[in-house]
Amino acid sequence: MKFGGTSVGSPERMRALIPLIDDEERKIVVLSAMSGTTNSLVEIAGNLYSGNIDTAFGKIEELKAKYHNVVNDLYTFDGTRQIGNDIINSHFSYISGFTQGIFTKVQEKAILGQGEILSTTLFHLLLQERNIRSVLIPALSFMRIDKYGEPDIFYIEENLQRELASHKDENIIITQGYICRNAYGETDNLKRGGSDYSASLIGAAINSSEIQIWTDINGFHNNDPRYVDNTHPIRNLSFDEAAELAYFGAKILHPSTINPARERNIPVRLKNTMDPEDPGTLITGECVLMDYKAVAAKDGISVIRIRSDRMLMAYGFLRKVFEIFEAYRTPIDMITTSEISVSLTIDNSEYLPQIVKDLKELGSVDIEEQQSILCIVGDFRTERTGSAPEIFEALNTIPLKMISYGGSPHSLSLLIDTKDKISALKLLNKHLFNQ
Ligand code: ASP
Ligand code: MG
Repeated sequence: MKFGGTSVGSPERMRALIPLIDDEERKIVVLSAMSGTTNSLVEIAGNLYSGNIDTAFGKIEELKAKYHNVVNDLYTFDGTRQIGNDIINSHFSYISGFTQGIFTKVQEKAILGQGEILSTTLFHLLLQERNIRSVLIPALSFMRIDKYGEPDIFYIEENLQRELASHKDENIIITQGYICRNAYGETDNLKRGGSDYSASLIGAAINSSEIQIWTDINGFHNNDPRYVDNTHPIRNLSFDEAAELAYFGAKILHPSTINPARERNIPVRLKNTMDPEDPGTLITGECVLMDYKAVAAKDGISVIRIRSDRMLMAYGFLRKVFEIFEAYRTPIDMITTSEISVSLTIDNSEYLPQIVKDLKELGSVDIEEQQSILCIVGDFRTERTGSAPEIFEALNTIPLKMISYGGSPHSLSLLIDTKDKISALKLLNKHLFNQ
C-alpha cells in the first residue's frame, strides 16, 4: 500500500491512514514525503549548489519549523512529542551540515531523500503511540538501482526477502518510497514521483496479492481534470492501457509503475485516501474493450525531422538514425516516416544538440520544441472502422503535426503544439465522451 504526499500531507491525514492499514492482512506500507517537502528540499539543494548558503539556511529553518508544528499536532502525549521533536532536530541538523563543505550530486541526493525518511519515522512513531504493532524497514537496506539507473531486481528481492524473514510476526511493515542506493552504494532516488515505482517494485519482489496506490483522486480519469470539467474515473484498465496513460501524461501514476506489476501479473489498484469507499481504478491483465476510454497529454516534447534523398529505396537508413539516439541513451516516443523523411519525438532534450549534430551527417534536420503528445486510449484494433475519423473530426480546428496509428491496438497518438493542448483536450471530451 503506497500513500502519496497528500495522503501523509498533514497530521490529520496521517491519522486517517490508521484505519486503512490496521487489519489482519500482512502488508508493506510505502510512504512518500509529506506534500511540498521534496520541492522544498530541491530548492534547498539548488541554493547550496549555487552557493547561496544564507537562502538555503533560511529554507531549512522554515521547513524545520513546519515539522515541529506537525509533531506538536500529530501526537497525543508529551512524551511522544518530545521524541518526535528530537527526531526533527537530529534530521535537520544533518541537513544543515550540508551548508558547510563541498556540495555535489551525492550530497544533493542525500538531502532529497530526507522527506521520506521523516514521514516514515513520524508515522511509525504514531503507530507506536497508539500501541499498533509495526516495524520500519529502511528502503536503503534493499532498494537499489544499477549504473544505468534501472532497478536491480535480483538485489531488491534478495534483500527485501531477508529483511521480511527477520520480521515474520509483523503485519505492518513500513518503508520509504522514492529512495534507493545506486550502484556505488550512495543514497539515490527513483526520480520525482518515484514512490509509486518503489511500491510496484516491492509488490513484485514479494509477489504480493495486490499493489495499492493511494492518492487524492478516485483513480485514473478519462481526461485531465486540471484542464477539463466533467471528467470521470475509469474503473478498469489493462496494464497496457494504464502504462500508455501514465507514460503519456496522466499525472496520477509514475510511468514505470506498471512494468513490475505486469511482469508478475499483480493487480494494481488506485484508491483515494479522502474517499476510501470509492472503488477507484483496478488495473489488471484483462482488457475490457471500449471505443474510447481516456485521453492524456504529455508536454515537453521535441520533434526532430530528418530528410534525406539517401533514404529513397535504401535499407539500413533508420538503423543509422536509431543508433544516434541509442548512443545518447535518449528514448524515442513517436515516429512517422515517408519515403525520404522521418519524424520522431523525444521528451529528454539533454543531448539534443549532440544528436542533431550527428543526424546532420545523414540529411537535413529540423527541430520544433514545446510540443505535446495527445494519447487516446480505446479500441484501435486494426479491423475496426470509424474511430480515427471521429477523432480527426473532433480536432479539425487543431493543427496535427504527427499521427501515430496502428502501433498499438489500444491507443492512437497525435503530436500537437503545446499551446493547443487544452483546447484539444476539451474538444475530445466533448466529441468522444459527450461532455
Ligand atoms: N517525494 C518524492 C517526490 O515528491 C517521491 C514521490 O512523492 O513519489 O517526487
Ligand atoms: Mg506521485
